[in-house]
Amino acid sequence: MQKILNYINGTYCDPHSDEWLDNYDPSKGEVYSRIANSNSEDVEKAYEAAKAAFPSWSNTTIEERSRIMLRIASLIEDNLDGLAEAEAKDNGKPLSLAKAMDIPRASSNFRFFAHAITQFNSEAYESVGLNSMNYTLRQPLGVVGCISPWNLPLYLLSWKIAPAIAAGNTVVAKPSEVTPMTAFLLGEICSEAGLPKGVLNIVHGTGPSAGQAIIAHPHIKAISFTGGTKTGEHIARTAAPMFKKLSLELGGKNPNLIFADCDYDKMLEVTVRSSFANQGQICLCGSRIFVERSIYEQFKTDFVAKVSALKVGDPFDEETNLGALVSKAHLEKVESYIKIAEDEGGKILFGGNRVKVDGHENGYYLQPTVIEVFDDQCRVNQEEIFGPVVTVMPFETEEQALQMANNVKYGLSSTLWTNDLNRTMRLSKELEAGIVWVNTWLNRDLRTPFGGMKDSGVGREGGFEALRFFTEAKNVCIEYE
Ligand code: NAD
Repeated sequence: MQKILNYINGTYCDPHSDEWLDNYDPSKGEVYSRIANSNSEDVEKAYEAAKAAFPSWSNTTIEERSRIMLRIASLIEDNLDGLAEAEAKDNGKPLSLAKAMDIPRASSNFRFFAHAITQFNSEAYESVGLNSMNYTLRQPLGVVGCISPWNLPLYLLSWKIAPAIAAGNTVVAKPSEVTPMTAFLLGEICSEAGLPKGVLNIVHGTGPSAGQAIIAHPHIKAISFTGGTKTGEHIARTAAPMFKKLSLELGGKNPNLIFADCDYDKMLEVTVRSSFANQGQICLCGSRIFVERSIYEQFKTDFVAKVSALKVGDPFDEETNLGALVSKAHLEKVESYIKIAEDEGGKILFGGNRVKVDGHENGYYLQPTVIEVFDDQCRVNQEEIFGPVVTVMPFETEEQALQMANNVKYGLSSTLWTNDLNRTMRLSKELEAGIVWVNTWLNRDLRTPFGGMKDSGVGREGGFEALRFFTEAKNVCIEYE
């Protein structure tokens, strides 16, 4: 069976423990490869490699760093089919989605930051009357840690690695142990692109073992983490006493506010996507749908009609809209929320059941599920489910819609459907979320700040925000005669 090895100092290697974890193909519910179960010894080895590479990499010209990163981007593109197949098999997502979104975006992440670093300026201030000149040095931090989740495996790992190395840092990275395959393949691509050894080190294994060793490492200067809010809390508690820089991109429970004056057909089509893309396992999915009363009944009918036409099936089948959920444990968690919804008095308008897919009887398939709820404070409306489950509820006024949208501990993204400019301006200011999409969803420009408010995290990634995170700003003040 294929082994997923660590990539340290430019070389693939076994974990120190020689222990291995099972890696599942969720579409079949079968183990298909074995993952290095790394521990603190492996993280130390990765750290040493990164530390040794830092002096040279941080002094490599920006042009050269950029050139290497562009080569990584091109090689990801050249290997689109193979990487997309690996992602679909490892994660259970439709191959079509991995081809259209995950892998192209991983390539764009490297390409974007290869260009962004060439435009990353520092400021200078002449202090008139004080005969002095101030300028800002933005220096790389040293060795940094990047930890990513399973829902968009290569997409989110590269979203962290790319700005980190562009800014001159060296990296110890850990992808999710649930979906390690494309990170494993990235090692080879980086070597082929000529990334000097030790600049990127990828250690596989569980959160409590390999992940913990990264966040608790006394000399790893910063942690860029994407994952669950509980894990984020733990990371903050562990890393804060060592004054590590932290960027925490955490969970969400995003509202989708639909007003009667919107472009109805476009809204309907995009809302199906924002609810169920990637089996609803995107932190930005709109999982709480609030609809203005006057179009509520119509919306329920039309939405359910469209959702019932979605095909749940083999990720490798071109017709498939929803593939498998990522793991058995996750499938059971999502199902438990459907039960909670029923216990709380919610009404299942569509779905709620497992799907048997021919030839894949043990895969983790679930119908897209639409639940009508009658109290916005019920658990299915407050807790992150992170699966193909959305709630719907009507609202009477803009004030009530806003109040329900904000009445949750999370604040990652929100979507607003309206053609009223004044309402757009008012609500975009008032919505407690790091992103407000108006008449669109998952429309991303990589120059924009990305991140959440409240329990959805601290810090911003994207564009220069990410490059600022991965650098230390130092003021130099020179007085002259
Ligand atoms: P998770 O928190 O369980 O795991 C994320 C990563 O953290 C994994 O690599 C895991 O091994 C590691 N980890 C776990 N415990 C650790 C520890 N003690 N020390 C260090 N690392 C540790 O999250 P998940 O289940 O993989 O991903 C789903 C979550 O991610 C959802 O809550 C989702 O909303 C969130 N997410 C957020 C964003 C965003 O941009 N805000 C994007 C995608 C996913």
